[in-house]
Amino acid sequence: MRATTVFKRLMDLPGITVTDVNFQPATVVVTVKLRSRKLRCPQCEFTTRARYDTRPVSSSWRHLDFGRWRLEVRATLRRIDCPTHGARTEGVPFARANSHFTRDFEDLVGWLATTMDKTALCRLVRIDWATTGRIIERVMATGLDPARLDNLFVIGADEVSWRKGHSYLTLVSNNDTGKFVWGNEGKDTATLDCFFDELGEERSAQITAVSMDMGAAFEKSARKPGHATKAVICFDPFHVVQAGTQALEKVRRGVWQDLRQLPDQDAARRFKGARWCLLKNPDDLTDEQAVTLRKLKRRGGDLWRAYALKEALRAIFAGDLSEGEVAMMLDRFCSRAQRSGMKPFVTLAQTIRKRKAGILAAIRLGVNNARHEGLNRRVRLIINRAYGFHSAKAALALIMVTLGPIKHVLPHERVLVSDA
Ligand SMILES: [Zn+2]
Repeated sequence: MRATTVFKRLMDLPGITVTDVNFQPATVVVTVKLRSRKLRCPQCEFTTRARYDTRPVSSSWRHLDFGRWRLEVRATLRRIDCPTHGARTEGVPFARANSHFTRDFEDLVGWLATTMDKTALCRLVRIDWATTGRIIERVMATGLDPARLDNLFVIGADEVSWRKGHSYLTLVSNNDTGKFVWGNEGKDTATLDCFFDELGEERSAQITAVSMDMGAAFEKSARKPGHATKAVICFDPFHVVQAGTQALEKVRRGVWQDLRQLPDQDAARRFKGARWCLLKNPDDLTDEQAVTLRKLKRRGGDLWRAYALKEALRAIFAGDLSEGEVAMMLDRFCSRAQRSGMKPFVTLAQTIRKRKAGILAAIRLGVNNARHEGLNRRVRLIINRAYGFHSAKAALALIMVTLGPIKHVLPHERVLVSDA
């Protein structure tokens, strides 16, 4: 068998013939020719037999490694004149538009990124993390289930911050499947408007309930004409408890600022470690943290009262109370919070009173809180991993290829091209 034939078989790329194989230090360069005489626009379905011109330099793509060898595919491409996109370099059947990697290579990276940490992935595949981000964006663009926006009934809208408050993402999940079906940069009314625009009036009208946090932005969007006007707005327990934790965090920061003004700086330093034992659920505390918590209790004061309020709020949503009981307990909580005189909790009580109908709707409709909480926790982990990415879009892509409706097909799981 000739080397060119062997490499055509081994690489198994669609629509090519191999014309040359060249061994360089650590890299095998395989020159190929496209078999089809028709030229294809990389951006759309347009095909033509007319070439605009030929690119003077050859294009190259990295394919899956052969053992320790890097593999580079090279081809001289023609340009076409697409009526929609203008003069473009023709598309190739084995790689996505604007990519320097074959689809097989990208599919592998797309899957690895969902399960493997940054250092391991970059060392194994020999690409940097920013490149990984760009690959994942392309995998997401072509891989998500196109039917993901059909048959949405109960949905959740969430915001997450990327790079600590520099940038925000809005994510929409399907409550039935527990998967994210949509995401975009931003966290305001206009961001969620984009979702409803994409959904269209007919599919938006099918939505029966939308769960969200207690801010005003998402509700405003859902209520716009043509959006989910008939849907019940739910403020799910997860977000209510989160608001309690945020209020506690504000009190804690205030106390810490006060301590820093004192001459005894040790107190401030010791106190800094208290953060996690206050924010964690008591069941999850380490022994050391439990000791710190008991000390805080003995000391009492605002911080301890704030902690007790946060825990009381969490207990209301443990999942074992009826709607009526939750209503009663919430009233009790709000008066306690109001009486505490601590500003973050006074504000929280006002918000909860104003949002009570929506909070109770979430209990009544049984919006799946455990699933929501689990999804949120996983998003946080992904966001941490996406930290080094070049853009919020890449972070979003990592979330979607991990927790969205996508089926990862690895190169060896696909039917062999040469057999087909
Ligand atoms: Zn085109």
